[in-house]
Amino acid sequence: MENKKENFSEWYSEIIDLAELSDRRYSIKGMNIWMPYGLKAIHAIDGVIRKALDSRGFSEVSFPLLIPRNQLEVEFEHFKGFEDQLFWVTRGGKDPLDVELALRPTSEVAMYPIFSLWIRSHANLPLKIYQIVNTYRHETKHTRPFIRVREIHFFEAHTAHESYEDAEKQLEEYDRTFVDISGKLLISYSRHRRPDWDKFPGARYSIAYDAIMPDGRVLQIGTIHQYGDNFSRTYGIEFTDEEGERKFVHQTTYGLSERLFAAIIAQHGDDKGLIFPPEIAPVQVVVVPIPPLGKGSSDFLSGVMEILSTYRVKLDDRDNYTPGYKYNDWEMRGVPFRIEIGMKEMQGNFVTLSRRTGGKRKIPVKNLRGEMEEEMKLMEETLMRRSRDFTESRTISSNSMDQVRDFNGVATVYWCGSKDCADRIEEHTGKSCLGEIMGDTTTGACIVCGKEGRLASFARSF
Ligand code: ZN
Repeated sequence: MENKKENFSEWYSEIIDLAELSDRRYSIKGMNIWMPYGLKAIHAIDGVIRKALDSRGFSEVSFPLLIPRNQLEVEFEHFKGFEDQLFWVTRGGKDPLDVELALRPTSEVAMYPIFSLWIRSHANLPLKIYQIVNTYRHETKHTRPFIRVREIHFFEAHTAHESYEDAEKQLEEYDRTFVDISGKLLISYSRHRRPDWDKFPGARYSIAYDAIMPDGRVLQIGTIHQYGDNFSRTYGIEFTDEEGERKFVHQTTYGLSERLFAAIIAQHGDDKGLIFPPEIAPVQVVVVPIPPLGKGSSDFLSGVMEILSTYRVKLDDRDNYTPGYKYNDWEMRGVPFRIEIGMKEMQGNFVTLSRRTGGKRKIPVKNLRGEMEEEMKLMEETLMRRSRDFTESRTISSNSMDQVRDFNGVATVYWCGSKDCADRIEEHTGKSCLGEIMGDTTTGACIVCGKEGRLASFARSF
């Protein structure tokens, strides 16, 4: 690679091109092509998300892409929140449509009129569904693969409950799924309750998962929202409770996207290129033969491939490239493990295993299956520790506005919760308010006005 990771923006663009994750040459800004290698990775990420949701009683659905204008405008606050970002379909063939159709920016409005048909009584609750679909937003800011795009690979879960309290419990369950998901993707993050002026349009409140990127900026990688009965009153989603009384449901959502992929690339990669967490690596192990191998080599190689067949394993037997070239190539592509097989290995009946995170060892072929399992676990621990250490190194707590301004990362300060004080901090430091840190119960004097405040984070963000 030409760029070092410390020049994050250039490094990020270069690795996406080199590793062939995404092709950015499509003729519409912010709509990119998922290349085979990148698509395999995002599908593996989808798999991790599906597993976390399916095991908790969610069912996958797929709703239509288009939303009629009148159905959108009913929920005014929500509509206003997205109005500037909507793409519209206005014609069918040569004729203008009677009702204009929006490409979904998210699917509340597509789903909720149907929820009112699905939900009749308390027996239908809780309703827990999700879909993994493309959503569309007319981004006008600088677009960047996986970070800010106009066609988004999007995950959205929607639930409906009998009471506000049940919906609150659902938010806690989302949190547990995110612990599972991030534990497989090995990304570290913090949780913030977004300030009221920055919550999701139509939500009572929003909680966001924020990941720090190598340039010190923060990327919002997930959100959960408490809707209460805001949407159910608009779309008439009612149920009959056990006493026979009609009530509105309380709803929540959970949104994730390809930004998870961006965080993986950013938090794990290094000067040599990508490093994939084993769980989602398109290729987990690459086997590189070092010629000349001589007699019996194909039996030896196929024996090793057979042992590794439970993994996504690739034999790189291209004969027009040197082993050294192949090493660099697969390192750049982030393959977690490389197995080298030369004459020495064949004669000694062992393989040489090399970790993308550093270190090499010899493993007897007969122990390979068990040792590989151990190595996968160790690599997960290494990557998790690295991303936590990185996040820690980019976070400070401070009571000095100048320090908050000068620190390249996330600054946590006591903040009274007022917009005025948040604005003052932003003006002085260039960092905006991510919100109060979830789970922190300490209090202290607001860095601006001195009134009692809670711990909140300020950062530049994508
Ligand atoms: Zn204040």
